[in-house]
Amino acid sequence: MRAPPRDPQDEAAEIVERCRRLEGGGLRTFVEDPPFVWDRAEGASIIDANGRRYTDLYGGFAVAAVGHGHPRVVAAIREQAGLLMHCPSAHPSRVRAEFLEALASIAPKGLDRILPAMSGAMANEIAIAIARTRKPAGEFITFSGSYFGRSVGTVGFAGKARYRNALGVRQQAHMVPYPYPLRMGEKSSDIAIAAIEQLIAPAGGAGDIAAIILEPIQGNGGVLIPPADLMPRLRRLCDRLDALLIVDEIQSGCGRTGRMWAVEHCGVTPDLMTVGKGIGGGMAVAAVLGRAEIMNWPADSFTSTFLTNNLNLAAATAAIGVLKDERLAERAGRLGEIAGKRLKQSLGNLRSIAELRGIGLWFGIELMDRFGRPAAEGAREAARRLRDRGVLVGRGGYDDNVVKLSPPLMIEASQLMEALDQVSEVIHEIAA
Ligand code: PLP
Repeated sequence: MRAPPRDPQDEAAEIVERCRRLEGGGLRTFVEDPPFVWDRAEGASIIDANGRRYTDLYGGFAVAAVGHGHPRVVAAIREQAGLLMHCPSAHPSRVRAEFLEALASIAPKGLDRILPAMSGAMANEIAIAIARTRKPAGEFITFSGSYFGRSVGTVGFAGKARYRNALGVRQQAHMVPYPYPLRMGEKSSDIAIAAIEQLIAPAGGAGDIAAIILEPIQGNGGVLIPPADLMPRLRRLCDRLDALLIVDEIQSGCGRTGRMWAVEHCGVTPDLMTVGKGIGGGMAVAAVLGRAEIMNWPADSFTSTFLTNNLNLAAATAAIGVLKDERLAERAGRLGEIAGKRLKQSLGNLRSIAELRGIGLWFGIELMDRFGRPAAEGAREAARRLRDRGVLVGRGGYDDNVVKLSPPLMIEASQLMEALDQVSEVIHEIAA
């Protein structure tokens, strides 16, 4: 990669100012102060506008499953750019056929139909619309802490009221507690299921249920891993209610948890599954997977101009090839185990850690203050100090007090361990 010459002092600040002058309000651009200005990225590293290199332990919001700018993805985009970029969804193309076949080859058994989308939110909107058209008067059940995107069609299902209020959207689903063992104890699944049973009882308030929609592991919720019995119990409930089980694998999929899909850990097949983020290898690709008898909308029920953009789809086909050929799910499982042990060794006994959660290459470090309260400022400060040390992490959780790690699955073990040691050091510093 060729780096353009630049004045290392000024470039980032100048870019921020140029954006600030013209950008409308509402994006996250200026939430961090100063904003982190991306310039280039390769593998598990990001180079900022001032030429400084960082280890990306957040994978660009969990997108860079195959790494940033994977050579196979880059080559596929280059080649496709010279052949065909825009191809309307009304017209099939070889590239679309290849994408559908590639995605079908890694789909859970039984989910043999695919609809393309361009964002996670769009995929979830399609899944919700399928459930709505199947049961027009049906209602939805989802869980506290859920995140399905921030479009008008999905934000009504969000756990955080702040997200809905920002867009002027009302709640669109009945909300029951997501099993949160740390806060709800060992019986957290029982509590969630009991809440649903109460809701659907004759005097419970809910009408006919069209679907239960959830993340099998919550990402925005702070890498929240429910007990293994949750999903089979929801499957049985949905069957009983003739409701669809919609599982959002946008963040938990593509090998992140050590399996291609998080649902594989519990042996449950949903009716509809949404995928996104890593599937595009860095391009805007998402999809809905489902059973043929559910994915049976009449022709011309929906479209979008760039839905089957051939650059996007060629990149996704290449990324899926990388996921399979480099066995990144297995790698995430193996490396995640070593990483988890290392974090546990260094952080396990620290009083400021409420819980250290992890599965595959996905970790949530939930912080608390000395009174046992969620420590949002601690998580913010940890992210700030880590950035100063050249390591990027995410933040989230119900109370914004979770440091989140979702590195590229191809990250070299040595780069990962070095960065994790920085994470541990910084959390120790903050606890002192
Ligand atoms: N679902 C989950 C679980 C997510 O984590 C996200 C994004 O973070 C989305 C949906 C929304 O995806 P997008 O931002 O591509 O619309």
